[in-house]
Amino acid sequence: MLRVLTYHRVADPKDGLALNPFLISATPATFARQMRYLAEHYHVVAMEDVLRAVEQGVHLPSRSILLTFDDAYCDFGEIAWPILKRYRLPVTLFVPTAYPEHPDWAFWWDRLYRAVAYTSLTELHDTPLETLPLDTASHRQDSLRKMQDYVKTFPHQEAMVLVDEICARLGEKQTDQMSVLNWDQLRQLAKEGVTLGAHTRTHPIMTQLPSAQIYEEIVGAQQDLKREVGNVLPIFSYPSGSHDDVVVSILKKEGFLLAFTTLDGQNDLNSADLLRLRRTNISRRTSLPIFRLRLLRCVSYLDMWRHRNEPSAGHRTLLR
Ligand SMILES: [Zn+2]
Repeated sequence: MLRVLTYHRVADPKDGLALNPFLISATPATFARQMRYLAEHYHVVAMEDVLRAVEQGVHLPSRSILLTFDDAYCDFGEIAWPILKRYRLPVTLFVPTAYPEHPDWAFWWDRLYRAVAYTSLTELHDTPLETLPLDTASHRQDSLRKMQDYVKTFPHQEAMVLVDEICARLGEKQTDQMSVLNWDQLRQLAKEGVTLGAHTRTHPIMTQLPSAQIYEEIVGAQQDLKREVGNVLPIFSYPSGSHDDVVVSILKKEGFLLAFTTLDGQNDLNSADLLRLRRTNISRRTSLPIFRLRLLRCVSYLDMWRHRNEPSAGHRTLLR
């Protein structure tokens, strides 16, 4: 059995960076405790080990864990990687490959967050969602959630036009703060042992795209990684976990061997659909006792119970 953990950002929510804190999987201190626990009690395997296991039919050691990070945020290099190195834990970073080339690009959920956080408006009128109040912290949070949910109902390109419009109306200011690691930094991380994998080019919801664009997002990302980093593995992570038979069949045709969803659970590599692998998402609510429990088998009922009782779980899912 293989359990795959998903992280996004490791950061202190009070670090003052204008990024959406919902994407923080753990604070630096919690992450360090989690990695120490894994190093002591589990067998953290590299992506190459998993590929070898499926290609050659060899078994992974018991209590195997694969660590993955989605989105290639800068804090991976600054905070997470030094901790992973300390415990000699292998890791895979899934990169949306159009971003490293554009230091000024931010993900749409971070742009909306920033625009709402710093707007001088007290409300936004005449939106399809009617008037959105922005006068208090809790109103801003509610209005942001409504906007994010609304944006998500559109195909990617229309959604991005909508984000541009909303941000312009909120008086979005340009920032020189980088969100995503650039190619120099990614090459350096790869040299130090980080495995890089494709997470599309522009991070769209794949199931909303026509086939030609799905193909371009998948093959384009592999070409970007190959050109910039050299070698590239046949691995893929679906943005927001969204996939369907069309997306999976394109990956299959292009020779991908492993693809990672956001569906919860473990994987029996002998019987699992290798292009629909399950992962365990780590969020800031994952305290060390919960982290330990989530790594044990037979506690998926607990995961289900927790998801049902977390009012914002659906919201976070939308953001990934
Ligand atoms: Zn992502």
